[in-house]
Amino acid sequence: MTLYRDPERISGIDITGTNAAEEAFGSDSDVLHPETRAVHITAPSLHGCHPLSVPLYQSSAFAFDHPDILAEAMSRPDGAFVYSRRGNPTVRALEDAVADLEGGSAALATASGMGAISAVLLSLLNTGDHVIAQRCLYGGTYSLLSELTSRFGIQVSYISGADADEVRAVVRPTTRLLYLETISNPIVRVADVPGLMAAGQELGLIGVVDNSFASPMLCRPLEFGADVVIHSSTKYLGGHSDVTGGIAVFATRQQYEACWKIAVELGSTADPFAAWLTIRGLQTLSLRMQRHCDNAARLSRNLADHRAVEAVHWPGHPDHPDHTLAKCILADFGGVLAFDLVGDREAGRDFLAGLRLISLAPSLGGVETLALHPASTSHRELDVDALHAAGIGEGTVRVSVGLEHPDDLWKDIEQALSHV
Ligand SMILES: *Cc1c(COP(=O)(O)O)cnc(C)c1O
Repeated sequence: MTLYRDPERISGIDITGTNAAEEAFGSDSDVLHPETRAVHITAPSLHGCHPLSVPLYQSSAFAFDHPDILAEAMSRPDGAFVYSRRGNPTVRALEDAVADLEGGSAALATASGMGAISAVLLSLLNTGDHVIAQRCLYGGTYSLLSELTSRFGIQVSYISGADADEVRAVVRPTTRLLYLETISNPIVRVADVPGLMAAGQELGLIGVVDNSFASPMLCRPLEFGADVVIHSSTKYLGGHSDVTGGIAVFATRQQYEACWKIAVELGSTADPFAAWLTIRGLQTLSLRMQRHCDNAARLSRNLADHRAVEAVHWPGHPDHPDHTLAKCILADFGGVLAFDLVGDREAGRDFLAGLRLISLAPSLGGVETLALHPASTSHRELDVDALHAAGIGEGTVRVSVGLEHPDDLWKDIEQALSHV
């Protein structure tokens, strides 16, 4: 893995970065597990040694010794660093690390998850193109697609994501892109990523998967034939509720370059400090995911046995409609769960008002447990019928399970359930 593309030209430092893990095992980094690769993120070498952690290059621009070298650098995305909106060493270290974890050729870090989604869609779509997308998309993605429909003539057909035949049923001559989420919000349905991506490939569609809920530790959609994988790194990759960021990983360099150009023009590329915080989070991703999943397993069991709870939605639960599929495509079942309270909207509100340890907040994937009542917040624009069509009840609560001791979490949930 090479961090710097033009070693001679920055500050006179020997800056050929080599992944320390790769160095130890030769160039065949396939032998290393994702847990190891996430820890050994490339830091540049300085006069024969290299910093253990990737430094924060908080510089908006880079100076050059000769105008010809600057001109050459400005002509390509993989040239020397010139201006941080176009590329920055700290940001590049994050991009290389996530591309490596997802098994892609290159990655583009952005200012937010939506920054990645908008750059990917705008780089791949033209006026009149048709998109096939999952019905239960992240709200921001749904709004963006609606905007592209009303203003730029992009057509969208929505499918459930459970069955590859749905893709074949709605495909048109103008269909260009198939857009899925590995695990959906808020009732954590799992998409048949391998089946749908295979159908998309047969039909010549570009497959894009938002993998934010799974993270590369649980699922790597490029292995199932996706062309582009997107993360809101605000969620599990960053993992500490202290950074807003996004990243798109590309199977081919060509798609990366088209998207890089749009993101540079839109100005939605990542800030070095956000990238630096995300790198710090990424190094503990595997441990955190393990604990998120273990805690979610424990809470989902306890919730299923509670009389105030009508149903629990978590793919690890044997009754979950996608349990068998989830066992095939996910390494574990994720840290987000939802449950339906016996009762209606009031029950959801009473439950959340009764929580003491768990915070009432949007977002997910951080160290602390968060709860949300979709009917009155994230999905408030849906009427009761639309809510039911999305599988959401008026008494549904979504929980992003954090890293606390599970006994403390259950104690808080149990006392809040007594208010319902
Ligand atoms: C949060 C989220 C996004 C948007 O990410 P931001 O960082 O908030 O822009 C996109 N997709 C999914 C699945 C998300 O959870």
